[in-house]
Amino acid sequence: MSTAIPPLRTRAELEAELARYAAEQAQALGLHRAQWVEPIRSNESFQRQDRAHTTILVSGLTLAHDTLVGAALRGLGYRVATLPCPDQNALQFGKEFGNRGQCNPTYFTVGNLVKHLVHLREVQGLSTARILEEYAFVTAGACGPCRFGMYVTEYRKALRDAGFDGFRVLLFQQQGGLKQATGAEVGLAIDRRFVFGIVRAILAGDVLNLLAYRIRPYEVEDGATDAALSACRAELSSCFERGGSIVAALWRCRRRFARVAVDRTRPKPVVSILGEFWAMTTEGEGNYELQRFLESQGAEVDAQGIVNWLLYLIWEVRFDTQQRRGLARSDPGFQGSLGKGAWTRLLKLRAADAALRAHFQLYARVIGLHRYRLPDLDAIADLARVHYDPNVRGGEGHMEVGKLLHFIEERVNHMTISVKPFGCMPSSGVSDGVQAAVTAEHPEAIFLPIETTGDGKVNVHSRVQMMLFRAREKAQAEFEQALTAAQLDEQAFRERVLRSRRGRSAFWRPAHRCAGLAANLAYALG
Ligand code: SF4
Repeated sequence: MSTAIPPLRTRAELEAELARYAAEQAQALGLHRAQWVEPIRSNESFQRQDRAHTTILVSGLTLAHDTLVGAALRGLGYRVATLPCPDQNALQFGKEFGNRGQCNPTYFTVGNLVKHLVHLREVQGLSTARILEEYAFVTAGACGPCRFGMYVTEYRKALRDAGFDGFRVLLFQQQGGLKQATGAEVGLAIDRRFVFGIVRAILAGDVLNLLAYRIRPYEVEDGATDAALSACRAELSSCFERGGSIVAALWRCRRRFARVAVDRTRPKPVVSILGEFWAMTTEGEGNYELQRFLESQGAEVDAQGIVNWLLYLIWEVRFDTQQRRGLARSDPGFQGSLGKGAWTRLLKLRAADAALRAHFQLYARVIGLHRYRLPDLDAIADLARVHYDPNVRGGEGHMEVGKLLHFIEERVNHMTISVKPFGCMPSSGVSDGVQAAVTAEHPEAIFLPIETTGDGKVNVHSRVQMMLFRAREKAQAEFEQALTAAQLDEQAFRERVLRSRRGRSAFWRPAHRCAGLAANLAYALG
């Protein structure tokens, strides 16, 4: 039996067939979409007269931050609603309507907005025209080099493909400051009140969350911290809405947290969470609910405040300006900064940094977040420089490396977890690449990089549990060492803590001698 061999086809014929097949499949899957072209100056699609009937949707940070930012915007006269924390469903929407090859936070955040609008259309029965007319979304933007610079485009493109073509996505540049103040007719007025309102909401959200992370692992009655946290969110929210005193509201929050009974005599491993900004900040499926999981396993979480990111944004500009001053010989301008006023600019940046820190510390002290140190970003950059050039930007830049070194040198924690989203080049390069060199130099450090893909929860939780075992042993050994130094046994230590008013307080932080709270209490009270 002879088999006829088909004639060889030319390259052009093969490519034509492939193109035909791709077109057929795209048609069948409903992917026949025109190339996306980004509109310019889209903030003007939201005018001042639209404010009264447009609800601005806010999301992307933690529940406390989103709630308070929303309240601050309401206080400025906007109608605002906050979206729930992105979940698996949001990820599916993001993957369905987003471009291929995005990083995981893009899918979660973009999908969360699409999911909400689909809910409005298909569950609440609002027509698409009404959604376009009555809703808008506001988000922060940036210039590259990572995908964060493309988020706004991704939102608009995904919304078009989900049937919401023309939905207003309003943008404020995170480094634009007041320069992006808009004309009198533009609806989203990015002026002094807007920027200060958002910054104050972020700082208040930070101190609220950070205090709760300190107290929750030691609460005697389950859920007491969350109940206080929820009441404080409402308290601060109403204060932002009516333009009251934030300091007074924080003081009232302090009184609520003071009622949470704590037992801080149990040694617990302290676990710092680092990594990509959104992935380490979110409280939901975007990082497999890492913070809550760690607490359920008996750890104290050391989370990063959003204030660190704000400080980094200021630091970046200061660092670049300082470097430009060194271009004196290659640039005809004064110190290489003709027309830029480098000195004035540096002074303003120093002032902005100092004001931000002072504001944060004021809020922190009032609410009871004592002895909380904000990072010295020059020192972090110096630490990182050996392994990661601070000129390399994208994601967290050099900060993850610098912070890990800082944690090791200052004995800040027992373990560090770095959350790197799937598809994130800056974070993967650091967590898997550079940090391998850091941990090789410091084998005593317990460092665990985890990748968040959205579907690896069991795997990630089990890896965390394995490492946590070592961290727990480290915390116990440190505690025993402290008891020996203080010449106390566990029973005597416990009695001493419970007899002491400061020892029983949820707020008091003993001087930092080592990572664990119980060990530091033993040193202080011994
Ligand atoms: S840092 Fe990574 S995860 Fe974050 S926006 Fe950039 S590419 Fe995406």
